[in-house]
Amino acid sequence: MKQADFLQELKEIDLLKQSLALLEWDSSTGMPTAANTYRSEVAGFLSGKCFEKETGPIIKEAIKTFSLDSDQLSEVSQAALNIVKEEYEKNQAIPNELMVKRAKANSRANAAWQRARKENNFSLFADALADNIQITKELIAYWKKDEKTAYDVLLNNYEPDMTTAVLDDVFSQLADGITKIRKTLKNKGTEPRTDFLKRYVAVSQQKKFIYPLLAELGYDFTRGRIDDTIHPFALGINHNDVRLTNRWNENDFIQGVLGLVHEAGHGTYEQNIAQKYEYTPVHKGASMGIHESQSLFNELVIASRRAFWQKQYPILQTYTADTFKDIPFADFYRSLKHSKASLIRIEADSLTYVLHIIIRYEIEKLIFNGEVEVADLPQIWNDKYEEYLGIRPTNDLEGILQDVHWSQGDFGYFPSYALGYMYACQLYYAMQEEINVDGVLASSYYSPITNWLIKHIHQYGASKKPNELILAATGEKLNPKYLLAYLEEIYFDVYQVEK
Ligand code: ZN
Repeated sequence: MKQADFLQELKEIDLLKQSLALLEWDSSTGMPTAANTYRSEVAGFLSGKCFEKETGPIIKEAIKTFSLDSDQLSEVSQAALNIVKEEYEKNQAIPNELMVKRAKANSRANAAWQRARKENNFSLFADALADNIQITKELIAYWKKDEKTAYDVLLNNYEPDMTTAVLDDVFSQLADGITKIRKTLKNKGTEPRTDFLKRYVAVSQQKKFIYPLLAELGYDFTRGRIDDTIHPFALGINHNDVRLTNRWNENDFIQGVLGLVHEAGHGTYEQNIAQKYEYTPVHKGASMGIHESQSLFNELVIASRRAFWQKQYPILQTYTADTFKDIPFADFYRSLKHSKASLIRIEADSLTYVLHIIIRYEIEKLIFNGEVEVADLPQIWNDKYEEYLGIRPTNDLEGILQDVHWSQGDFGYFPSYALGYMYACQLYYAMQEEINVDGVLASSYYSPITNWLIKHIHQYGASKKPNELILAATGEKLNPKYLLAYLEEIYFDVYQVEK
């Protein structure tokens, strides 16, 4: 086996994946709904081909040959081999029947979840959820290599090397810190007004404002495009084709604007992975948490800063006629960082968001590392909302039925969002050591910020693990104090808390 044969096989796998990605984009943007059955057939066929190759004789042979003799491998091939080998070893022992059983259970559970949502009744989802949990437990037995807890195994599917021991510690610090900030805001803060955020802003006006801004933030329109969808996402098809989607809301314009600022963070990351990794599995993000840190760097760090909006608000005003003519800058800026406990995760503000994640983390841990009856989950869910957010869901729809993840068998995914928050802020403070970020945001060129992220995160793709990236970029391992410091800085300013 020669290196060239290995790279050729990786390329063919990648070509299939590019086709699948394009089909996925099309299904979520412009495909006629009637085409659904035909589309599933094509996607199923190509995924099958892809899986055959990924677990096929050439990859098997490459792992065997190059694990013993890696001298002839280039840096790119070595990085690719590491990823391929990990995936292969993780999945090769799993019986095909179990994978088929899982796919069926997931699709049944997703349908049950949708029915349960319609009827606002968790019990219609309970059995299917129990099946998803049971099958995941069977998979854990195959995935597990060492003395990890069952939940650690799930976490590592999304965030390599992360452990519940680390998360227990950082999440308890975050919960305490956020609760303290919320108390201070309640006792000493002044609520911002937010009424004008619901004023009508036409999609055409929003686009005029946001498209040039995305380009300033580093998103390259010559290698991307933006389309409308229901659930926004960013999708890297190849090095020169990274697409964003958005949902616009003319009566809550900030939702669409910040949504796109977020997706552009994902997109800019994918566009700036070193081109040498193209056609290999290294040309992707390092983990879900690192990917989310790049979108949140845009949304949480940059779009929370006064300096950013000081420059952008007048531009927004020129594109929105007289809509905000009577709103002074200070009021506008403060309205964006209004905080209010919400029952729904995706509607949460940046101060309370992480609490929603901690709740899900604790419940998932209970499911996989502890003992719990599925029937008891709604009660546990509601109790935790009362404990962490001080509000209690009155029905399943605003409680345990709100997220799609468990219905798809995605357990261990939620912590990635909170890791993204922490990584983003930790990166910000490290960047601040080298760059005057507010100075850059006041200027006409944001490129020093993008370049810093390319240098420390983007270019590496999946060639480094999350903890390596964070340590190298910031000089220390994951530390929740930066997120807390950031939230305190922004919210004390907005709520005019005297220090
Ligand atoms: Zn995201």
